[in-house]
Amino acid sequence: MLEKWRPVYAKPGDDGLDIRDEDRVERKLEKGLKFEKMSEVVSFLQQQKFNYRKEYYKFLLDVAKNPISAKDIQAAVSLPFEVSLTEQKGRVILVTGDEDQSAGDPGNIDRRNSSRLSMHTHPLSRDGSADVVTPSFSDVYISEFAGPTTPLLLAHAEGLIHYRKPSYDPINKQLFDGEARDAMLIYGEAHGIDVFGFDRGRLKSYFSMSHEEKVVFQRRFAEETKMIIQEANWNEVGKIANMMNIVNLKT
Ligand SMILES: [Zn+2]
Repeated sequence: MLEKWRPVYAKPGDDGLDIRDEDRVERKLEKGLKFEKMSEVVSFLQQQKFNYRKEYYKFLLDVAKNPISAKDIQAAVSLPFEVSLTEQKGRVILVTGDEDQSAGDPGNIDRRNSSRLSMHTHPLSRDGSADVVTPSFSDVYISEFAGPTTPLLLAHAEGLIHYRKPSYDPINKQLFDGEARDAMLIYGEAHGIDVFGFDRGRLKSYFSMSHEEKVVFQRRFAEETKMIIQEANWNEVGKIANMMNIVNLKT
């Protein structure tokens, strides 16, 4: 059964895999433009018209000198595309993605899997409301590849989530140390959902679910498989500050 697995859930409109990374081109800053703070980067990106499906921007942030604030992250969530924050040599690299994927920079995958930070944002929905306030199934899938010392963080409209790969099997009520994709498969089957779109006929296809149903299903999965290490709403200042320490590489 597992041999047939393939990432068919990376369809347009879903939070897909990094399938288009290699097609994107880095958009260089105009000569003379230089940003030191994340707030400057975000205001630049808010004003910039560019095709974020085909091009990406990349910024280097010295967070020891100019720490990133929770407000900066919230502002980044309001961009129409995802952004990714990873660490390299003690600095944070911000790369823009698109609506479904967090980064266009090919080097991002390595940094995301083995650096001191692996964070991404989920943008608001088109009407400006909170959207995917949970690690998505794509995030679950790639959580498998994160190194043991790489913290995984998600910023969304309502707050921050610090998460890890699925570590509990709520169906068999036992610790889970298998592959993330298998956790999804087991969970999906137990709930009558064909998460990978195998279309065996006996299960409901994940792709036939509405966007809202998918969000609820992904959220329940993240909670029940104990992916969530800690999370906070933006107004929970203390908890947010703790997680911002991770973002600023102070842990
Ligand atoms: Zn995500």
